[in-house]
Order: sequence, then structure tokens, then C-alpha cells
Amino acid sequence: MCSPDHFSVDYTINPWMDNNLHQSSIDRAQYQWQNLYHTLQQFSQIDLLKSQPGLPDLVFTANAGLVYGDRAVVSRFQYAERQGEAPIFKDWFETQGYTVSEMPEGIHFEGAGDALFDRTQAILWAGYGFRSDFRSHLLLAKLLEIEVLSLHLINPHFYHLDTCFCPLSDGYLLYYPAAFDENSNAIIESRIPQEKRIPVSDEDAYQFACNAIEFSKTIVLNCASDALKDQLHQAQFNPIEIPLDEFLKSGGSAKCLTLELPTVPNQPAQFQLVTQPGVAPDDFYATTLYTTDILHESHWITVESPRMDATIVLTDKHPHCKLLRDLEVGDRVLIGSQGIRTRIPTAHTATDFGFMASGVSSERRVELAIDQIASELRSIRDRGGKTVVVAGPVVIHTGGGAALAKLIRDGYVQALLGGNAIAVHDIEQSLLGTALGIDLTHGNAVQGGHRHHLKVINLIRRYGSIANAIEAGIVTSGIMYDCIRNSIPFALAGSIRDDGPLPDTQMDLIQAQADYAKLLEGADLVLMLSSMLHSIGVGNMTPASVKRICIDINPAVVTKLSDRGSLDSIGIVTDVGLFLRLLGDRL
Ligand code: NAD
Repeated sequence: MCSPDHFSVDYTINPWMDNNLHQSSIDRAQYQWQNLYHTLQQFSQIDLLKSQPGLPDLVFTANAGLVYGDRAVVSRFQYAERQGEAPIFKDWFETQGYTVSEMPEGIHFEGAGDALFDRTQAILWAGYGFRSDFRSHLLLAKLLEIEVLSLHLINPHFYHLDTCFCPLSDGYLLYYPAAFDENSNAIIESRIPQEKRIPVSDEDAYQFACNAIEFSKTIVLNCASDALKDQLHQAQFNPIEIPLDEFLKSGGSAKCLTLELPTVPNQPAQFQLVTQPGVAPDDFYATTLYTTDILHESHWITVESPRMDATIVLTDKHPHCKLLRDLEVGDRVLIGSQGIRTRIPTAHTATDFGFMASGVSSERRVELAIDQIASELRSIRDRGGKTVVVAGPVVIHTGGGAALAKLIRDGYVQALLGGNAIAVHDIEQSLLGTALGIDLTHGNAVQGGHRHHLKVINLIRRYGSIANAIEAGIVTSGIMYDCIRNSIPFALAGSIRDDGPLPDTQMDLIQAQADYAKLLEGADLVLMLSSMLHSIGVGNMTPASVKRICIDINPAVVTKLSDRGSLDSIGIVTDVGLFLRLLGDRL
């Protein structure tokens, strides 16, 4: 709760405030709030948030966010008048040790005001129509892994779900049906049997009877008619009335003045020693792409360089990721799930290319997306940042090689990751004008072309490396040429289907993974160009905070690569050659 030291009706953002602007009494608000506080203290432990001048609605802590276990989804307020509250709530959640998540920019969500857990079923009831965005419900379902039932609010006096809907114990529901549209009423009726539904009259609804708090059958509310009290008694509830009319002037009451928090067990992280090289203890914690903190000796410490599918090892108070195969006897490996929190990044703002965060776009938006990507690449280059390109041989087959080489020459690429094929086909094109024997200018197979890629491999093998062949003046253009001439590091990871391979292709896969990881260190952006194999590999070793752009002709591949937990990933379904040529034009 937050004491109403600075409570007032200073602006109007709901119909209740319209008639009460500057009409509230701080003394009366204090008196009523203290009554509520002391009543609730009999049932529960109460934590207090410090009130702040200039934020009169901070007292309505239900709108701080939604708490589920040790996770808090902090609110993103719709009205500017309340937006100043969000950082205060966020800070509070973090200090208390919650794993804090935020809705992406532009998706409003007003916390427990619009999201209420059912007390008997695994359901989150969520409201939309006035304050919270319907899209927030989809994100909540994904984040909390819970069924979310969306209810459409249609009466502006009941602008938050908790003003007209209160799930109670034993499967009961106290609610005001007229606040919802027909479809939402049908959803409610399909999930709550008639004998458990307690619909309130207009009179009770406008006294905010549904804005109630329940503790094991005791219900605390502003006031209830005799008829409603009778109904509640019949269902074995015990209503306690605490007058809160001063807060009704702002459109809030008992429930709005509180945020229910499950107890967060702030227990320290646990570790177990490795006893067999390359084998973790059974209950080891498997990492995600997200920034992860562990609670050790009463402090939250951030795990260095998060990546997916690794363990966390604590060395001299420094938690870091270690692959299973790298574990050594004596390593202290994080186990279980206590004392661990992950932080999911917020998507960047529209000016920072997140305008289609985590979206997969096709033709209609490709040109717009390319403009954004061009400006992102330019900004990374100009500030001395790092863009890593992951590319498959399709880049060459589709005629995108020249455009990628130019990006490298012009300083837009700081590292290149690929396999044997991209290098072979790039050099084949440079030397013979073909890729896998196909003439790239005319699109037809040339005589003897089937040998071309092998000739190239043979030639480079003769010189010992691509760099040596370039030094000898044999290769004079192409992606690999521009990498070497401009000192851009590259790593070519081998695969079972490789011909040759080129001497530069790393056939020791463990070493190849390490080479990739090294080149990905400190990346700001990863551009994944039509290589499912290498892009997935890269996706797993890149922290969620790194932006990714995935280009592939197959929507399923783009979705798979864009949907790996990073909010800053975008996917574009298009021909990669076309993409690179258009991108080159924009740069
Ligand atoms: P991959 O299947 O992992 O990825 C190819 C991707 O390109 C697919 O997702 C596909 O949908 C996409 N694609 C196809 N046409 C496209 C277009 N026009 N525009 C955009 N995207 C398009 O295969 P890969 O990355 O090419 O190769 C996998 C492994 O096999 C690599 O290690 C590679 O080096 C090796 N390989 C070796 C040789 C060789 O040595 N001769 C030849 C081919 C592949």
C-alpha cells in the first residue's frame, strides 16, 4: 500500500474524476486509508511504498503491476499523468527481488487493476477496452504460461477490470455484468457456474462493491447494500465495510488501494560440485538467452555473457556460463531454481528499430524494414559498434554476393560467420562467374560447371588458405576477398555435407563453436542471411539483449529464428539477393 500523503484529484482521466476535480480532502483520505490499513493488518503483512509529490494516484498500488510467483510485470500506463509512477513501481519490485518484466513500448498494461487471478482455476482474467491493450494479454499468457481470458470493458465508469470483477474463494465471482460486452459475459458464464456468480446491482456497482479484497471468506469493501450482504452471507462470506468514498472521487476503492503479493522466498542460489569432467550435477540449471542474476551472499550478481543451453558456474563470486562439455571436476554449478531471476529485455522504441519487434514481415513491409535496417547499420558503424553477419551460400546463388562484399568494404560488417559453402561459392563466382556451375549473369548451367566448386576448393588447398590465394593475386574480388583485405575476421564452421573442405573451414565442431562465440562477443546486431544451420547455432549463443535480423525465403525458418526469446529480433521473409541489393541501395 502507499499512504495518501499526496492524494488529490488533480486531473481527469476517468468519469469519476470529471465531477471531482480539486474536490478531495487529504485529511479525510488519510483517515479512511488508515482505517483500511488497520483492518487489513489483521489479516496480512503490509509493505508500504513511499508516497511522492506530483503523483496523486500512486496510492492505487493495484496498478503497480501484476505479480505472479517471483515475477512482476510492471505496468505501462496509458495516460501521461500516471506514467511517472511506473519507474517507482519498477524500482520497488527490483529492490524486493522480483524478476521484473515490462510490456514493449506502445503496449499498455495497468497491472493488477486489469488482471486478476481466479482463486480456484488456473486462469488469469484480463480486462481491455479502456486502459490495458488487448495485445498485453497475449504477452502475459506467453510470459506466465497461464490461460488468459480476455474481457471487454464497455462502461467508462468501470475502466479497470478490478472495478467490476472480483474472483472469490470457492469459485465464486462478484461482478457487474453491465460493465462487459455480450461476448465477455458469455465467457464468464461458460467458466463460472450460475450458482457461483454473484452479480451486483447498479447501486452496488457504483459504490465499487466489486473493488473488494478477500482474505479467507472475509471481504473488505467500501460498502454493500443489504441485498448484497445477504447474498454474500449465504455464500459463507463475511463482508466488512470500510468507507472509502474519498477515493471513489478518483475512481478507486479498497482493491485499487492494494496490491496482493505472494511471499517471495529470497533464498540464496544453490551450487553443487562437479565430480566427473564434462558432466553436471543432475539438477543443474540450464541457461536461457536472458540476463540472469543469482542471489549469492545476500547480493544479486549478474551472470557474465548469458547464452542458451549452458550451465552457470560460480568462480570467485563471478557466475559465468559454461557448456556441459567444458565442466571440470570441482566447478561449482548452479542447481535448482531458487535464488535465480531472469530479466527479459524491453523492445527498443520506434526510433530504435523495434517498431516491428519480434514481428515477421513479408512483402508489404519489406521496404520499410530495409530502411530501418540501413539506418541501424549506419548508426552502429558510425558509433564504432559491431555488426556480425551470418551468411549461407544462397547469398551467392541469388546474386547478393556483390552487395554483401560492398557492405564489408564500406565498414558495415565487423565479423562474418558461415560454413564451407559460402566461401567456396563466393570464390567460384569471383574466379569463374558461376555458383555451383550456374552462370550468375545468364542463369544457365555452363559446360563442365559441375566441377567448378571442386576446382576452387582444389586451388585454395594448393595455396594453403584463402588469404594466401588472395596474397598471390589469384582471388581478386568477392566476400572473402573483402573480408581479408579489410581485416574483417571470419569463421567457417564445417558440416557433414562439405566438399573439400577449404583449408580455412574448421572441421572440429567444438572449436568452430568456440570461434563463432569469440566473434560474437560484444555484438550489437546479428544479421542472419539465409542459413538455417548457422543462424540457429548463433541464436543459441547470443544473449537476448543483442538485436537480430533474420532474412529467409521460408516463413517457418524466419519465425523459428525470430522467436527465440529476444524481443529485439525481426524477421523478413524475402529473397536474400533482393534484400541485399535493396539494402545496398539504401546505404
Ligand atoms: P540451410 O538449409 O541451413 O539454410 C539455407 C536457408 O536458405 C534455408 O533456410 C532456406 O529457406 C533459405 N533460402 C533458400 N533460398 C533462399 C532465397 N532465395 N532467399 C532467402 N533464403 C533462401 O543450408 P546452408 O546454410 O546453405 O548449408 C548448411 C551447411 O551445409 C553449411 O555448413 C554449408 O556450408 C554446407 N554446405 C556445403 C556445401 C559444399 O561444401 N559444397 C554446399 C552447400 C552447403
